[in-house]
Amino acid sequence: MQKHHHFEVAVIGGGISGCALFFVLSRYTDISSIALFEKYEEVATINSNAKGNSQTLHCGDIETNYTLEKAIRTNKTASMLERYIKLFGYENKYAFKTPKMALGVGEKEVAYIKKRYEDFKNDFSYMQLLNKDQLKEKEPSLIEDRDTNEDIAAMWTDTRISAVDFGEISKTFIQNAKEEDKQTEVFLNTEIEKIEEIGDKFILHTKKGEQFYSDYVVVNAGAHSLLFAHSMGYGLDYSVLPIGGSFYYTDLDKLKSKVYTIQNPKLPFAAVHADPDIVQDFKTRFGPTAIALPKLQRYKDKHFIEFLESLSPSSEVLEVFYDLLKDDDIRDYIAKNVMYEIPGIREKMFVKEIKKIVPTITEDDIYFAEGIGGLRPQVIDKKNKKLLLGEAKIDTKKGIVFNMTPSPGATSCLGNALGDAKLACLHLEKEFRWLKFNKELIY
Ligand SMILES: Cc1cc2nc3c(=O)[nH]c(=O)nc-3n(C[C@H](O)[C@H](O)[C@H](O)COP(=O)(O)OP(=O)(O)OC[C@H]3O[C@@H](n4cnc5c(N)ncnc54)[C@H](O)[C@@H]3O)c2cc1C
Repeated sequence: MQKHHHFEVAVIGGGISGCALFFVLSRYTDISSIALFEKYEEVATINSNAKGNSQTLHCGDIETNYTLEKAIRTNKTASMLERYIKLFGYENKYAFKTPKMALGVGEKEVAYIKKRYEDFKNDFSYMQLLNKDQLKEKEPSLIEDRDTNEDIAAMWTDTRISAVDFGEISKTFIQNAKEEDKQTEVFLNTEIEKIEEIGDKFILHTKKGEQFYSDYVVVNAGAHSLLFAHSMGYGLDYSVLPIGGSFYYTDLDKLKSKVYTIQNPKLPFAAVHADPDIVQDFKTRFGPTAIALPKLQRYKDKHFIEFLESLSPSSEVLEVFYDLLKDDDIRDYIAKNVMYEIPGIREKMFVKEIKKIVPTITEDDIYFAEGIGGLRPQVIDKKNKKLLLGEAKIDTKKGIVFNMTPSPGATSCLGNALGDAKLACLHLEKEFRWLKFNKELIY
């Protein structure tokens, strides 16, 4: 038997992006009926789960690949999530003020950290510049056994929320959205198989054979978003390159802080960092690694055909690969990251990377974190033959939007939701409650 339902807005995908949008639409707009469709039994089981990402609220203060301008922009959206966490009382439950730092090792990197501190201190006035002796007090294992001639310095703070269980926060978005006096429905175990555009409306066909009608649709289905777009003739200038990220654990209770290392600006993916795991007591994670994978989800299902469809190989895609591979640094980086996945040698190879953080650590102290890690849908802009480093949106301006949200997509979930809620209100001629939004979520 077929069910028929109609909603003003349908959100496809119950990761943190979809859940945040569901909340923002429900609490801050006068849109009266909103549906969220998630193919698995719970929301946030993939990249937004605490196991799938580094659990870091990226404020721009320790992310050395961000320019000051980008850091200020990222900080704005991170602050929204920080405000939300405080407003609803989730601090010390799902979010913590774990100390954090950007660490520079050696003369060149120390000079870089000092300069960055000067450049950032007006906008990030809570950051402190720590020298070797001060670091020794905060994190002795950074200094223990380090070459006495090797200088180190860090930009450090313990004043901001820095570690977040984005999976649990996703669930709170759903609970809080449902508190509003609206028709808000979450359909779990409901995979959308096809979206049909009929005039200015949409029919969502589920794998179980049900149909749902919607006036506006936002597709937040991770790496699958582009597949939906392609199937409807949109976003044909984009491809998705799925980049898997793995982690290593140590059970040694060595670090209290998140320690981020300095990034090579040529490398599009994050440098390895150390993160005390907030859901696995007494374990520290090192990672993520970065490896291109022929699938759209890291651990659930294989999706090889779907991978090919969303990569849609072409001469432009090959040109982007060629440009990446002709750079020595990038070639080395790719080769190293392949080795970090090979059982038997991976611990031995990877430990070299993290000795920069904890000089005393050995290969016997670490192990590959099985089942931990996720996949970043990095987007290739075929027209401009470029790998895009951040998020990508396809706004058709016809009532359907497709989002691809690699890092720092969990941090910027409320900022992205705000953008999509504004688009939905504009299209449906609905009101966005700016006063309430600003009062609650903007500092
Ligand atoms: C290794 C790694 C480390 C990271 N670290 C950080 C970090 O520290 N901080 C940070 O801010 N970001 C981090 N990120 C990025 C962050 O995890 C993602 O940006 C974020 O989780 C994306 O959320 P999303 O909701 O867009 O996608 P996802 O979490 O992937 O959710 C997509 C959802 O759509 C559902 N779905 C897919 N297809 C369908 C369909 N047909 N029908 C119904 N449902 C469907 C899926 O089941 C899934 O639940 C990291 C990512 C990786 C891989």
